[in-house]
Amino acid sequence: MQSESAAPITAFIGIGSNLDSPKDRVKGAAGLLAEIPSTRVERVSSLYQSAPFGVTNQPDFVNAVACLSTSLEVRVLFRKLQKIEAAQGRVRTKRWGPRVLDLDLLVYGAAVVSDPDLTVPHPGIADRNFVLLPLQEIAPDLEIPGLGRVADLAADSKEPRIARLE
Ligand code: AMP
Repeated sequence: MQSESAAPITAFIGIGSNLDSPKDRVKGAAGLLAEIPSTRVERVSSLYQSAPFGVTNQPDFVNAVACLSTSLEVRVLFRKLQKIEAAQGRVRTKRWGPRVLDLDLLVYGAAVVSDPDLTVPHPGIADRNFVLLPLQEIAPDLEIPGLGRVADLAADSKEPRIARLE
């Protein structure tokens, strides 16, 4: 597989943590993303606090979104994200359970991917304010393939608002 795309692609990463100093984990994730080869961190949103999704008897999450410019092919970038998660001690216990660091590949340019282990754009974007609101902060005019403009999705969202932390 070719590991680099011809021109840099703009990608958005959802960052979340609800264990082990979550604020520091989310802030530290930007530094870890910056270490990915052929990749630059262009922007990181403020931190947001959200109630847990799915499994509700666990601590609140801290969330943010980062904008990257990357020359890595989409699946190569995804594997780098999984490596960072694993290195942070993320233990895959149950779906939607607590985690030290969760990195979701939200958007990768105009790409649409439906592999068994990778769906891009990430399928949860439109109904998760912990993704939409930080995304709106740094890229309101972003057109998400198949979904529409971020600011319009955020305006239409029926989800409860979430608090901005810092
Ligand atoms: P989660 O526990 O919510 O982080 O989900 C992790 C699972 O989602 C992994 O098995 C991934 O292979 C899968 N997955 C599919 N598409 C994506 C994506 N765009 N970003 C992150 N994980 C994804």
